Amino acid sequence: MISEKEALAAILGSTRTGARECLPLSQSDGRFAAGDLCARLPLPRFDNSSMDGYAVVASACRAGERLHVIGQQAAGIDHELTLRHGEAVRIFTGAPIPAGADAVVMQEDVTLERDHIVVNAGVAPGENIRRSGCDLAAGQKILNRGERLAPQHLSLLAAQGLSDVEVGAPARVAIISTGDEVAQAGAELQPGQIYDSNAVMLQALARRFGGNVADVVHCGDDVEQLKTKIARGVQNDVLIISGGVSVGDRDFVKATLRECGAEIELWRVAVKPGKPFLFARAGECLVFGLPGNPVSAFVTFLLLVRPALLKMAGAGDDELPLPEYSARLTSDAENDGTRPHYVRGELKHGQFSPVGRQESHALYGLSRSNSLLRIPPETALKAGDLVTVQVWC
Ligand code: AMP
Ligand code: MG
Repeated sequence: MISEKEALAAILGSTRTGARECLPLSQSDGRFAAGDLCARLPLPRFDNSSMDGYAVVASACRAGERLHVIGQQAAGIDHELTLRHGEAVRIFTGAPIPAGADAVVMQEDVTLERDHIVVNAGVAPGENIRRSGCDLAAGQKILNRGERLAPQHLSLLAAQGLSDVEVGAPARVAIISTGDEVAQAGAELQPGQIYDSNAVMLQALARRFGGNVADVVHCGDDVEQLKTKIARGVQNDVLIISGGVSVGDRDFVKATLRECGAEIELWRVAVKPGKPFLFARAGECLVFGLPGNPVSAFVTFLLLVRPALLKMAGAGDDELPLPEYSARLTSDAENDGTRPHYVRGELKHGQFSPVGRQESHALYGLSRSNSLLRIPPETALKAGDLVTVQVWC
């Protein structure tokens, strides 16, 4: 059995970054930049006032001086005023600095007398002026390829006068949830049946981590039905199958994938939960077979599917691992098994608390969790230990 690290390396080795598309900035939040981008304009674009006040020559603006107000410059079209020693121009925040001025005195620091001001507190050269290019120089890098766009990036791009940006296109994802016992919401449960919780969970995970879910279907444990649905599923960039990948007599997914011409690249990974995980390729389509147990499906998705979806959507290498944080463990936690155990828990205020039953079917604890703690095999951790946890939300 291979480690989760080896499995991820193999999966990412088979994963290609997908197409790119040009999107309006307003629709680009959360997408990944398809290329590096440099500033076309310096920021600020021109010297402007950071205060409402009076543009002045600093050396003439000492306490007690009277200055003649020769005009007004609001934020907007530059009136191209020029002022001299002993003069002032009424000015407002964001307005271009008139020629000859080298400072702005705040309106709170002067007394207005008809067309003159009396200075109550002087200013130093440069005071209250935002110099052109002091924030950002033209030509400076403002976006790296593979970087996730967030509102703060979008505002910077908008300040450059851009209306759209090239980003990675999401992978088209199909999901098949298998199992004769699995019923859909709204159906009356027959004895022995359970509701399908994996289909919607995988749909949400795929969407959250860069996928475009195009098709979600259920399939009984039946080879012919599976063949038909797999043949349709592999028309997409990614096919995620839940259940039927283990060693039971009615786990038909692996054999059926082979019959459909898929190449099984790996099966079974040394993690708990999630051992029966399968990865295959069917032409250009990447196929992920996740264990049916909901927590196993969730954890293996985070560890092994999420990075591939992100990479296809154009994410850079830095964006692929789950964010990691240090935390104090609030209770003892032991892994006496031979596979690393990904314990689900809650990270809050720098503390990590395992939540609920740590079994692969136990959905409630998962629903209260936001992070994973990896405990290596045969390792006992104590309450108060400093650990690293991986956060998914
Ligand atoms: P399997 O991997 O098909 O052997 O399923 C393992 C366990 O997961 C069984 O207890 C199944 O009933 C359960 N399971 C399989 N598919 C789903 C699903 N879509 N939603 C909830 N539980 C499931
Ligand atoms: Mg099953």
